[in-house]
Amino acid sequence: MNKYEVAIIGGGIAGLTAAIFLAQEGKKVLVLEKAPRYGGRGMTINKNGILMNLGAHALYKGGEAKKILDELKIPIYGKEPSKDGHVIWKDDVYQIPMDFSSLFSKQFLSVTEKFHLAKLMNQLSKMNVRLVQNESLQAWAEREIKRPIVRHFFYAFCRTTTITFLPHLQLARPVLMQVQRALTEGVLYIDNGWESIVTEFKKGAIQLGVELREARKVTHIDGNEKVERVVCATGESFEVENVIIATPPQEACRLVPQLQKTSLFRWQREALAVTSSCLDIGLRRLPNPKHQFVLGLDQPIFFTNQSRAAKLSDDGSSVVSLVKYHDENRNTSDVQQDKKQLEQMMDVIQPGWREEVVEQQYLPHITVVHNFPHVKRTEVPGTEIPEMKGLYIAGDWVCEEELLVDAAAVSAKRAALQILKKDRVLI
Ligand SMILES: Cc1cc2nc3c(=O)[nH]c(=O)nc-3n(C[C@H](O)[C@H](O)[C@H](O)COP(=O)(O)OP(=O)(O)OC[C@H]3O[C@@H](n4cnc5c(N)ncnc54)[C@H](O)[C@@H]3O)c2cc1C
Repeated sequence: MNKYEVAIIGGGIAGLTAAIFLAQEGKKVLVLEKAPRYGGRGMTINKNGILMNLGAHALYKGGEAKKILDELKIPIYGKEPSKDGHVIWKDDVYQIPMDFSSLFSKQFLSVTEKFHLAKLMNQLSKMNVRLVQNESLQAWAEREIKRPIVRHFFYAFCRTTTITFLPHLQLARPVLMQVQRALTEGVLYIDNGWESIVTEFKKGAIQLGVELREARKVTHIDGNEKVERVVCATGESFEVENVIIATPPQEACRLVPQLQKTSLFRWQREALAVTSSCLDIGLRRLPNPKHQFVLGLDQPIFFTNQSRAAKLSDDGSSVVSLVKYHDENRNTSDVQQDKKQLEQMMDVIQPGWREEVVEQQYLPHITVVHNFPHVKRTEVPGTEIPEMKGLYIAGDWVCEEELLVDAAAVSAKRAALQILKKDRVLI
C-alpha cells in the first residue's frame, strides 16, 4: 500500500507540475505537502470575497510556465493588462513615454532623453539577447546606457519584471530576456488569483491518479546511496524508488542524509534568496483611475492594479498591489518603514485611497524567489543529485536561466523527464 514509484515533497507549483508529468506516463505518484493546502507561494487568500495573491503576480506569456501549462492542457483564465504606465520621480507622477510617438509629449524628460529612452525600448524589444555575454546587469547597463535618467527607467523595468533589485549580482542575459518577453509578448493577470492555477493542477493530478496528502511535513529521507523511504512528522513512512524534493533549499537540506557529501549542499550554499515587502489592498473604487501601473524611478517600489485585467472580487472592488524591492542593505527592523513608504506612494498616486479600503494584507518580508541566475554561482543547481540514486530537486531556486515560476515549472519538468528517461533505459 505504501509503495510508490515517485514521492514528491512539496505541493507548490513545482511539485504539482512534476506530479502531472510523471502520472501521465503511468507512474504511481505521491505528493506530500506540509501545509493544510496546496500552492505554496502560488496561493491566493480570500478575504471576504476579495482575492489576494501573495503580492502582485504576473504570468509571462512567453515564459516556460505558460508553455508547460499549455502542454499539459491546464486551462487558465485571465487577461493581459495594458502596458501603458506611469513613473514616480521626486513624488510626482509622469506618463512613461513608451515609443518614438511620445517624444514630444509633456514630460520631465528632455527631448534628447526621451529619444534615448525610446531608442533603448526599441533595442530591448529587438536585440538578440542570446548574444549577451556572462556579465552582471549593472555592467551591461553602465556600458550600454549612458544617460543616468534612462538607466533609472531601465532598472525600474528590470526590477518589476524580475522582482529582484540586485543589478550587481543578477546575470544580465536572463533579465534582458525577461524584459524582452514583457515588452513583446506581455503578461497575464489571472482571474481568481494564482490559486485558480493551483486548483486546475490539483484537478489534473487527481484525474491522473496522483495521491495528494496535505498536512504531511516530511522530516527525512532514508537510504544510503539510493533513496528508500520518505518519513513524515505524522509517523507515516512510504517506500519509494524516486524522490523529487520541491521545497525551498534550506528545507531540502534538512531532509537529505549525509548532506555534506552531496551536490545539494554546494548548490544550497550558492543560492541567493530575494525578499520584498508587499502591500495588497482591496478598494471599493480607485480614486485616480488614470494611475493603473506606476514604477518608482528614484525608489525601488512598484504599484499595479491587478483588477484592470483579472477578476479578483465578486462586488467589483479593485485589488491593487504595491511592492518594495529589498536589496542587500535592507535593515530587517525597517518593517514599518517599508509599509509607510508604500502607503505614501498610495497617497501620491491614489489620493483619498484610505477612505476606500475594504481589505488589506501586508507581507513585510516575503521570499519572492529562493535563487536567481547570478554572477557568483559556480554551478547550475540540479536537477539530479548524483550522490544519491533516485533523488532529484525542483523549484524556483533550481534555475538555469529561467526566473521565478518559470524556473519552478521547468525544473519540475526536467526532474520528471529524468526519472522517465532513466526508467526507459533500465527497461
Ligand atoms: C511577492 C511575490 C511576488 C511574486 N510574483 C511573481 C510573478 O509576478 N511572476 C512569477 O513568475 N513568479 C512570481 N513569484 C514567484 C512564484 O510565486 C514562485 O516562484 C513559485 O510559486 C514557487 O513555486 P515552488 O513550487 O518552487 O515553491 P513554493 O511555492 O515555495 O512551494 C514549496 C512547497 O513545499 C512545501 N514544503 C516545504 N517543506 C516541506 C516539507 N518538509 N514537507 C512537505 N512539504 C514541504 C511548502 O509548504 C510549499 O507548499 C512571486 C512570489 C512572491 C512571494
